Amino acid sequence: MLWLLKRGMRHVVCVLAVLIALLPCAVAAQTTAHSSGGPTPGADQRLERLVSSISEERLQSIVAKLASFGTRETLSDASSSTRGIGAARQWILDELKGSSPKLEVSFDTYQIAPQGRIPRTVELRNVIAVLAGKTSRRVYISGHYDSLNLGSGVSALFATATPEAPVTNPQGQATFDHESNAPGADDDASGTAVTMELARVFANSGIDFDATLVFACWAGEEQGLIGSSAHAQKLASEKAVVEAMLNNDIVGGIRGGNGVVDAADVRVYSIGPEDSMSRSLARYVRWSAEVYVPSQRVHLMAREDRIGRGSDHSSFTSAGYPAVVFRESRENLSRQHSADDTPDGVNAAYLARNARINAAAAASLALAPPAPKVTDDRGRPLIGRGPSGYDASLQWAASPGAVSYRVYWRDAWTSDWEHDQIVGKTTHFVLNNVLIDDDVFGVAAVGSDGHQSLISAYVASDRAVLPVKLAK
Ligand SMILES: [Zn+2]
Repeated sequence: MLWLLKRGMRHVVCVLAVLIALLPCAVAAQTTAHSSGGPTPGADQRLERLVSSISEERLQSIVAKLASFGTRETLSDASSSTRGIGAARQWILDELKGSSPKLEVSFDTYQIAPQGRIPRTVELRNVIAVLAGKTSRRVYISGHYDSLNLGSGVSALFATATPEAPVTNPQGQATFDHESNAPGADDDASGTAVTMELARVFANSGIDFDATLVFACWAGEEQGLIGSSAHAQKLASEKAVVEAMLNNDIVGGIRGGNGVVDAADVRVYSIGPEDSMSRSLARYVRWSAEVYVPSQRVHLMAREDRIGRGSDHSSFTSAGYPAVVFRESRENLSRQHSADDTPDGVNAAYLARNARINAAAAASLALAPPAPKVTDDRGRPLIGRGPSGYDASLQWAASPGAVSYRVYWRDAWTSDWEHDQIVGKTTHFVLNNVLIDDDVFGVAAVGSDGHQSLISAYVASDRAVLPVKLAK
């Protein structure tokens, strides 16, 4: 009896499946849901090769070499050829130059006046490697190469400080020793190693990228994001187009200071609001990781960074560019900013997986067309209810190189895209009977080889409510 019932059920399911298959495409597409908020394309074999050519051994040797300069503190002696920030930045420059003749490598130099945690005028040099693409729009991968020693355990004290028991930053004191050992293996030789290794791998991949890739090793991060800020300010004043910035800061450790070990997750923080392009980039990172690095889970964090802590991605978001930061899952606060941040705290296999996630996202984006513009010249979203008043009518500007577009939508209270539909090479699409008031909508551009841009979302601007004038 039970068997007959089961058989009957199976028959009903079969008939339903046939009926669903016969439904028009548009309806079927509306039922497609992806937990990751993106499509699941077949992997590009060129990118699989690029990702797998990232070397664990090379990452490890870069971290060890950077730590061997003793300190890379911003105000340390810049004249020695073996110790201090001068020796370190020269080695990074030479290494990048030796990686590939395709890389245009240079110091990005600024004279910084005394301010905040910088007690005297100092010359600060970011080290930048550019891999020119077919277009000038840029995709950044970065880490900061400067390091810091605040004294043993001071960073952990900062983390547990309260308004009643504040901890003063010793960097501001005249007696602060800028020459003490600051190996900075995890913070942030790990992110610098990711940046340098990706420069080598991308330049030697033989792939012609559409976007220009920029591999940036920042200086002065520990004094308040000085190097990246100066660079981002320059980009904004030159009206440079930056499609994405992937920042890596403290990305090599797997053992937290509380003893908890996690080698399977990496955190990616991004500033809101929920449909900012930084959040779009964060979703893109998770989606490309699922395709190319399924062994590592991207744990998205809907906030700019850890509480009270920051890094160079904020220099880019402050200048209006989409940016995210990668952070290891479990941090050891007591090793950070001290002589104890040594290479034994960096796990090469974990670091390599994080480097591969960076590579997958950056390469996919650099091969895709730019994200479509979904606002008019006054910044208003190009979305309406159509003549019926009950449809979602979406418009966007054509993206150079796009062969089709993919429209996304989701319930307005969720954060991951729920539905998507390829709509062909058009700049206008109507979703019948989908209310624009109840869902969020976005659109991505798809290139000829299937690579897809970031999703641009239609974001309603806040309503300005004027103060009410009361009669006297
Ligand atoms: Zn750092």
